[in-house]
Amino acid sequence: MSSNDKQKLLAQIAADIKSKNVCPNLAKTATNLVIGDGNLNAKVVFIGEAPGKNEDLMGKPFVGAAGKFLDEMLGHAGLKREDVYITNIVKYRPPNNRDPLPDEKAAFWPYLVRQLQIIGPVLVVTLGRHSMEYFMPSQRISVIHGQPKRISFNEQKLVVMPLFHPAAALYNGGMRQTLIDDFMKIPIVLKKLEKE
Ligand code: URA
Repeated sequence: MSSNDKQKLLAQIAADIKSKNVCPNLAKTATNLVIGDGNLNAKVVFIGEAPGKNEDLMGKPFVGAAGKFLDEMLGHAGLKREDVYITNIVKYRPPNNRDPLPDEKAAFWPYLVRQLQIIGPVLVVTLGRHSMEYFMPSQRISVIHGQPKRISFNEQKLVVMPLFHPAAALYNGGMRQTLIDDFMKIPIVLKKLEKE
């Protein structure tokens, strides 16, 4: 599929979220729908939790403090933002940056699945437990972080690697090093998968 076709299909997802009035309570208080951003032919897709204040204002994911830190972590994987596609499980900012609710995550899940079908990455990296739990229910991130796992759903096969959320590691020295170590595994995992 050409980048142009992918762009059109992703724009259709955004239009559908609006026309179907997904999470009207969040839509009411949000400035922008934050659908995702980056390389439509990316080998790696990163999935965060939900937009924060800066993301809501700019309409793009990970542009605030956590985003700067994510850029630094991408560097440890030998990646730049323009190499990857970044999105969130929830596409509107929850008020006061509260955790997304289970029904909000459930409401946006089918749209995330469509995004992944369109982009077709080799590897999906979830950031934090909110985006991990739909791919790997009842797992604990503290136990399985940094371990890629093959999963299949809706006839789609994916390799998913759960990582801690950059915001959680930003001010926690130990977790920061764990996150760096996990990011450094990404190019190794990618190389392996591309050889298959
Ligand atoms: N945290 C997230 O999970 N997503 C963003 O887009 C920004 C911060």
